[in-house]
Amino acid sequence: MKRLVLILLALGASGNAIAGWHSAAQDIFGTEVSVQLWHDDNRAGVDAISAVFDEMHRIDALMSTWRDDTEMAAVNAGAAATPVEVSVELFELIRRALELGTLTRGAFDITYASAGFLFDYRERVRPGQAALDDALAVVDYRLVRLDREACTVFFPRAGMRIDLGGIAKGHAVERGVKILRKLGVAHALVSAGGDARVLGDRRGRPWAVGIRNPRGERDAVYATLPLVDEAISTSGDYERYFEEDGKRYHHIINPRTGDSPSDVRSVSVIGPDGVRTDGLSTGVFVLGVADGLELIESLAGYEAVIIDAELQLHVSSGFDSLKQ
Ligand code: AMP
Ligand code: MG
Repeated sequence: MKRLVLILLALGASGNAIAGWHSAAQDIFGTEVSVQLWHDDNRAGVDAISAVFDEMHRIDALMSTWRDDTEMAAVNAGAAATPVEVSVELFELIRRALELGTLTRGAFDITYASAGFLFDYRERVRPGQAALDDALAVVDYRLVRLDREACTVFFPRAGMRIDLGGIAKGHAVERGVKILRKLGVAHALVSAGGDARVLGDRRGRPWAVGIRNPRGERDAVYATLPLVDEAISTSGDYERYFEEDGKRYHHIINPRTGDSPSDVRSVSVIGPDGVRTDGLSTGVFVLGVADGLELIESLAGYEAVIIDAELQLHVSSGFDSLKQ
């Protein structure tokens, strides 16, 4: 007995080789990023979490539209005048975003930003109808010109801009998990706001990922999903919004009308790829229950949970098989 205690103390003193759960959170992308993982080595577990946060800061510095020193900001400042060269990473994500535009028949449209930037949810600012109509005239993802050889982005109309807010966190979560996998981690949960990915299980049981009650407190859970090796993205009308005359103006915008959809309150999409679940959750939010579920049914491996304006739950047909 005595001998066993001594051995444990020796391991503890070295700071290494103690297996266990590690978790930490940081504010990145204007939201909370959190990582939970199991590692057989204490020190390596802490280092793995830092590596994920470093990666997220790198992606934020590349893609944020809130800062004017990012590649993304350079695109919006220059691409209507001349093609702007970007990194392969940004090029690829824009390409995938445009693909999601096609898949959602324009419900997910990164050029929504021409209209979207006229809103400031914190300051309760929204454009008048004339300004909104002018902006909507150049909202169309099919206009964006990508040149793969030159790795450039070009906007053929003045006033066009793009924003990857509906897909960048899914990308960041995917990258974070990839790093963990490379570092030998087999059980982890990486989340950035409403986008999360689980790596493996929670050592013998699934991860339990909660879907928030859209009208509850921040920690009020509406439903819990057991997930193993899967991505989940939730888009909600409660993230960034203000209300005026009983109408909620929130951060998801219908690219055709400039309105914030009001028939659903939250959409969660579950599937094998976090970039897709992220774009789809935003796109399905715009499509609404019937068209949104029809789209999800057409995609192998993807499921959705929608909470409508009456707080009724709608789920895609494969959802039962997700329950344990
Ligand atoms: P998410 O929380 O993933 O649904 O992303 C919401 C964010 O996506 C917003 O804050 C905007 O940056 C962006 N966004 C809003 N409406 C659209 C849209 N119709 N298509 C693509 N991105 C959008
Ligand atoms: Mg999204």
